[in-house]
Amino acid sequence: MADEELAEGIRRARERLGREPVILGHHYQADSVIQFADYTGDSLELSRRAAEVRDARYIVFCGVNFMAETAAMLCDESQVVCQPAVEAFCPMAHLASPEDIVTAWDALTGVWGDDLVPITYQNSVAAAKAEVGRRGGAVCTSSNAEALFRWAFGQKGHILFTPDEHLGTNTALAMGIPQDEIGLWDPVHPPNPQTLAHCRVVVWKGYCYVHTTFKPEDVDAMRAKYPDARVVVHPECPHDVVAKADAYGSTTRIIKYVREAPSGSTVVVGTEWHLVNRLQQQHPDKTVVPLRRVGCRTMGMTRMNHLLYVLDGLLEGTPRNVVTVDKDTTYWAGIALERMLAAN
Ligand code: SF4
Repeated sequence: MADEELAEGIRRARERLGREPVILGHHYQADSVIQFADYTGDSLELSRRAAEVRDARYIVFCGVNFMAETAAMLCDESQVVCQPAVEAFCPMAHLASPEDIVTAWDALTGVWGDDLVPITYQNSVAAAKAEVGRRGGAVCTSSNAEALFRWAFGQKGHILFTPDEHLGTNTALAMGIPQDEIGLWDPVHPPNPQTLAHCRVVVWKGYCYVHTTFKPEDVDAMRAKYPDARVVVHPECPHDVVAKADAYGSTTRIIKYVREAPSGSTVVVGTEWHLVNRLQQQHPDKTVVPLRRVGCRTMGMTRMNHLLYVLDGLLEGTPRNVVTVDKDTTYWAGIALERMLAAN
């Protein structure tokens, strides 16, 4: 089917379904899909939205799997969450298995006793969030990682952060924790936990393959090409990239940064390509350039035909690509997620 036919099919399905479905779209989704979203946002905003849209019978989540799982855990039991491209998952979310988190937890509590709080990035599987919730921990996003670190240090003296080494490191450094008090937990080759005894934060050896593509030399090259440019990057980038940027933050912060840049200015953006491309189109009075053109393959998996497939299922009264999470996981992960939603 041609794109225009697919778009027309989606529009017609939306009309017939009225307010029954709400379509949520992450900022990294392609324009062809995001044009149909009722709400767009970063993962914190979309989590909040999923918890709030109680009048919609269906939540159609255009994003990756951990986001749809989170929506399924935060929405009302009567609501159904569908993910148009069920095979779209975040590779980083699978770098911290629940079993490996328990292994790390047991090793580190052997050093610090119970003076430890686990925090998992939202980019993690539901079962990992549940292990964190069971141990008194919380979920965070790139929008509120610092707030959750502050919350954790209000409870205990140490943090185990999974699964993104770079978000964890950037957050700890921004809070004034010296590099030598930030330890690394490699789940494939776990360190002797005693070697981490002096650390206040232990970060997981996991990464986003999109944001770790950016190198400090990319910032140097862009500054040479655009001497007056401002550079803004995502905190999933390695610290040597963040340190060379003028600003860093979540996708929402990046969007705000570009919006607030003076007309006629140049902004170099280090994050996923679909968002940078959209910012270019939305701000024709500014020069918005990617630090490097890198797309997230799995975020880009959702296409109009997937969305139409899910909406057609709703029209037939047979939801397709339904995402569910079992009750026990939902209970414990829900505790960790509620802490995320409560954080300022
Ligand atoms: S951009 Fe990175 S963190 Fe986000 S979904 Fe893709 S791989 Fe995962």
